Amino acid sequence: MNKKQFKSIALISVHGDPAVEIGSEEAGGQNVYVRHVGEELARQGWRVDMFTRASGAEQPKIVEHAPNCRTIRLTAGPEEFVPRDEIFGYRHQFVEALLKFAEKEDINYSLIHTNYWISGWVGLELKRRLSLPIVHTYHSLGAVKYKSVSTIPMIASTRLKVEKDCLENDDRIVATSPQEQEHMRSLVSTKGKISIVPCGTDIEHYGAISRETARRTLGIACDAKVVLYVGRFDKRKGIETLVRAVNASQWRDDPNLVLLIGGGSRPGQSDGIERERIEEIVDELGLTEKTRFPGRIGEEQLPFYYAAADVCVVPSHYEPFGLVAIEAMASGTPVVASDVGGLQFTVVPEETGLLAPPKDVESFARAIDRILSDPQWRDRLGENARRRVEEKFSWGGVASQLGIIYTQLIEKSVVSLGSVSA
Ligand code: UDP
Repeated sequence: MNKKQFKSIALISVHGDPAVEIGSEEAGGQNVYVRHVGEELARQGWRVDMFTRASGAEQPKIVEHAPNCRTIRLTAGPEEFVPRDEIFGYRHQFVEALLKFAEKEDINYSLIHTNYWISGWVGLELKRRLSLPIVHTYHSLGAVKYKSVSTIPMIASTRLKVEKDCLENDDRIVATSPQEQEHMRSLVSTKGKISIVPCGTDIEHYGAISRETARRTLGIACDAKVVLYVGRFDKRKGIETLVRAVNASQWRDDPNLVLLIGGGSRPGQSDGIERERIEEIVDELGLTEKTRFPGRIGEEQLPFYYAAADVCVVPSHYEPFGLVAIEAMASGTPVVASDVGGLQFTVVPEETGLLAPPKDVESFARAIDRILSDPQWRDRLGENARRRVEEKFSWGGVASQLGIIYTQLIEKSVVSLGSVSA
């Protein structure tokens, strides 16, 4: 094997393709995280390959995002959509395909950063075979998730074991919030090294549009009261809580009230069941005329939606971080979120928004009402929110914090292996 190339790293995201359209089916925060971290690291001098599983025969196998940053789609199992938990069955093929690619291109990565437990397994295997430092981000912890679901899937014991192995054996775990770190320690293991590096957002992309311009562009009245949801259609996202809260709001019968529920794929795809269920609830509650479902919102359109809103609601049952909250905050829009996980870290109650217990319709309604009823306070919350994101959650800052960790780990491994070239 050739000498390792110090600045060449691989990000692995087996099920979260960094190059796909975000907001539909399985594509959400993890895809956004990997893509932005990869692109920003490349800007900061790293050479970044992002590996994912090909999920469509028509997809290009290599996507160049920027100089020194590309997505590589490996064939592991059928080149079609496969539900997350079934992807684990193709893990060995994924490892072999990755090794073959690296050999063909003559690349010797000096570090691997894995994302989500399926990639975590791949990382442990690559560590065993290549003796590389491995960094891991969970994005979601089985130990937390399984506490809140009624049926535990067959894969649960495997997932829990892999997550424990990652924490105990990887060179560093990245927790995206102090709350996530606390869950790792209390529910997974007391062993292993954890660093807290939050998720980020693009502070230039968000926050440059006024509410008036955004509303004019989207065809929303300038005096409307706009409540916004952005995200995947998944029961755990708690969209039902939001709809019921809007129904319980003191503004419910105001002709100016607009509820925007953005996200979701085209009809017939796997998240369609939840979308239909939500549409039925909206219909039953008589909210159809006030509610719009714009579908998946592209990256170029998102700043307009966030800027148009008086309040962005993140009603998830659980959220390890929750990118939507910081995107809204970066846009100067206050957030009402569930008092769980990373949302407790990003949203500062009474300063940048409000927190409410998950699934608590009355509390969400009260929080939404407080913001809708006081435009001056809304603006103050929005300004504080923007400032908080600028200070803590830019992708540039996130990538440099990761870069420092990578450099330390690579230098340490160089000392122990004695075989790296610049
Ligand atoms: N998103 C999008 N278009 C949509 C809906 C969502 O681009 O129509 C993006 C959203 O901007 C955010 C990500 O999907 O960056 C969702 O991330 P989050 O961490 O909030 O939730 P996850 O999907 O990881 O559960």
